[in-house]
Amino acid sequence: MRVSQILNPTLREVPAEAEVVSHQLLVRAGLIRKSAAGIYTYLPLGLRVLRKIEQIVREEMDAKGGQEVLLPIIQPAELWRESGRWDLYGQELMRLNDRHNREFCLGPTHEEIITDLIRGEIRSYKQLPLLLYQIQNKYRDERRPRFGLMRGREFIMKDLYSFDRDEAGLAESYKKMYDAYTRIFTRCGLSFRPVEADAGAIGGTGGTHEFMVLAESGEAAVVYCPDCDYAANVEKAECKPAPVAVDAPIGAYRSVDTPGTKTIEQVAEFLKVSKSDLVKSLLYQGDDKLILVLVRGDREINEIKVNNALGPFINLQLAGPEAVLEKLGCEPGYVGPIGAPKNLTVVADLEVPLMAKAVCGANAEDKHYVDAVPEKDFRIDQILDLRMVNAGEPCPQCGSPLKEARGIEVGQVFKLGTKYSKALNAVFLDENGAEHPCVMGCYGIGVSRTMAAAIEQNNDKDGIIWPIPIAPYHVIVVPVNMKDDQVRETGETLYQELLKLGVEAVLDDRDERPGVKFKDADLVGYPLRVTVGSKTLANGEVELRERKTGEVQLVKVEELAGRIQ
Ligand code: ATP
Ligand code: MG
Ligand code: MG
Ligand code: MG
Repeated sequence: MRVSQILNPTLREVPAEAEVVSHQLLVRAGLIRKSAAGIYTYLPLGLRVLRKIEQIVREEMDAKGGQEVLLPIIQPAELWRESGRWDLYGQELMRLNDRHNREFCLGPTHEEIITDLIRGEIRSYKQLPLLLYQIQNKYRDERRPRFGLMRGREFIMKDLYSFDRDEAGLAESYKKMYDAYTRIFTRCGLSFRPVEADAGAIGGTGGTHEFMVLAESGEAAVVYCPDCDYAANVEKAECKPAPVAVDAPIGAYRSVDTPGTKTIEQVAEFLKVSKSDLVKSLLYQGDDKLILVLVRGDREINEIKVNNALGPFINLQLAGPEAVLEKLGCEPGYVGPIGAPKNLTVVADLEVPLMAKAVCGANAEDKHYVDAVPEKDFRIDQILDLRMVNAGEPCPQCGSPLKEARGIEVGQVFKLGTKYSKALNAVFLDENGAEHPCVMGCYGIGVSRTMAAAIEQNNDKDGIIWPIPIAPYHVIVVPVNMKDDQVRETGETLYQELLKLGVEAVLDDRDERPGVKFKDADLVGYPLRVTVGSKTLANGEVELRERKTGEVQLVKVEELAGRIQ
């Protein structure tokens, strides 16, 4: 391509609303333009980067036996009602009605759709395991769309779903994806860490990992060990997409849509379960999620810490008679990070109702949801694992003091189990003709977020420094003076030679001052720049400059193409 013809509107000024460097540079380098909050157009060079990341993802998914499909963006509400998530998902779900007033949503994720497909198509264990994926737009009405491509409302995700016959199969699929993710982010030139991310984290059960690109602008807090490979998300209480990490029989797995506060009695009554059969999790579903587990019964639980890493966003208010609060170790109207109420065994045995209300940032009057699961399915160790880890605490693997860092979640792998297959009845028959629900996993990569994360990690004051595998083009040939025939013609010749060799090259054929051309080349972040000027041409040479190091070499014109190739 010739730069004069590329729609690549670069800007010198930093856009006012862009808070983080990737957002600033994506706009300034002419890679994206905003359409509405969290909704962007990809311009030609931006799209090339995106396609390269997609291609890396695709190759690694295929290498693990993944099969690409394309699922619908528009999804019927009925499926989401079947899984129980129509109500649970809250305001992040973009809902719409058709002309017949049927309800739909724009897919924020595709467990329902894919499980519906599988229940129709899979009959036998012989058809398993199955790994299906797509690369497609996702829609989430994020409370705070911001940071450009990092938190969009329309964004591009790769999502793969695994279907296995048992836990052992799931473990294998999970490992395949974990390995594929490691390869993908390495190939994208990112420095990242897989972190343990859920209730199972400290217990080491490994139910989910997030892949974090470490960067100051990251929205997630991560603790990591400087001396071994241990790393965990501080926000352990976030547990997605299953609100609690249990396989609840679907009958009991209903949600209550309660603006304001509900008492335990009211919840029990609504769910038609006796108070004594109830173990409660109170899930706040918003941008930032909080799961507060109130445990009743006669069990001793030594410690429950509720995540306080969400900092300013999450407050928890407890209201109730003083005696109750005293037992919980909380002040009335206690606001802010929850401490560690010791021996939290009393909650629902109390004669008086305890009211707990999760309040989340700006959305404090928003809905909150209560889920209930029968006690028999609830694993106490999972509750205990809601404990958060803090910097300074000893590493559970090697004992060194943990450190804290900020991370951008670029991907997540998740063992779903049978939550969706049970809910939607996606079953298969084994060798003996017995029916079982498929054991599922889901695995997401934020493709567009990865593009932003790559910029967060690779930039300087002049612009983007693309890692070569995802650069929009590899080389820009810059004739410094288009009016000089020899310079112009040499530039053209070199450009053509590079193209012939299959090198991804552009020619800056604009009649602009060299300073303007150099600035744009640095801003857009082409890994290599070939400068063609009359001075060096006098010796039959051109300048080859590496964007990353600024290193310049003089290269004979006739050797250039071979050198780059
Ligand atoms: P976050 O914690 O940042 O809200 P998430 O945990 O809700 O992300 P997942 O449901 O795990 O996201 O989706 C898989 C991947 O999709 C994430 O790891 C992330 O890379 C990407 N992603 C999620 N939300 C967005 C968004 N609003 N904009 C861009 N990418 C996103
Ligand atoms: Mg989210
Ligand atoms: Mg997350
Ligand atoms: Mg996630």
